[in-house]
Amino acid sequence: MKRAIFPGSFDPFTIGHYDIVLRGLQLFDEIIIGIGHNINKRDTFPLEERINAIQHAFNSEPRIKVMAYDGLTVDFAAEQQAQFILRGVRSVQDFEYERNIAEANKQLSGIETVLLYTRPEYAHISSTLLRDLHAHGKDISPYLP
Ligand code: ADP
Repeated sequence: MKRAIFPGSFDPFTIGHYDIVLRGLQLFDEIIIGIGHNINKRDTFPLEERINAIQHAFNSEPRIKVMAYDGLTVDFAAEQQAQFILRGVRSVQDFEYERNIAEANKQLSGIETVLLYTRPEYAHISSTLLRDLHAHGKDISPYLP
C-alpha cells in the first residue's frame, strides 16, 4: 500500500494542485491531502470551506482523503502511515524551496518526497495570485477545480 500525503496551505486549492493530485494517483494507492493549518495565521478562505471544496472536487475518488493538521508535516505523515510526501514544482524558485524542505524532512524522518512538474499551462497559477484577484473582486472560478 503506497500512501502519500500532499501537504499545503491550499488557500485556495487550485487547478494546479488538482492536477498534481490526479497525476499522483497514477503513482500512489492513496493520497491524503493535508491542509496545514496554523491557528495563529489568518487564512483567506475558511478551513471548512476549503475542506468541502476539495472533497467536492474529488467526490467520486475513494483513494483521496482530505484532512487538516497542525504541527510538522513529517509528524502528520507518520501518524497517517504515509511513506511519501507529494509536492508540485512550477519554477526554479519552487525547486530550491522544495529541495530544502525535502532534505530537512528526509533527515528528520527518512520520508521520501516525490516532486511532479506542473503542466506548463498551470505554471503561473498560485494561491497567492488567486487571493489577490479575489480581494479585488475578480471571479477566480476558472482557476478552481
Ligand atoms: P505551501 O504553502 O506549503 O507552499 P501551497 O498550497 O502553496 O502550499 O502549495 C502546495 C504544493 O502545491 C506545493 O508543492 C506547491 O509547489 C504546489 N503547487 C502550487 N501551485 C501549483 C501549480 N499551479 N502547479 C503545480 N504545483 C503547484
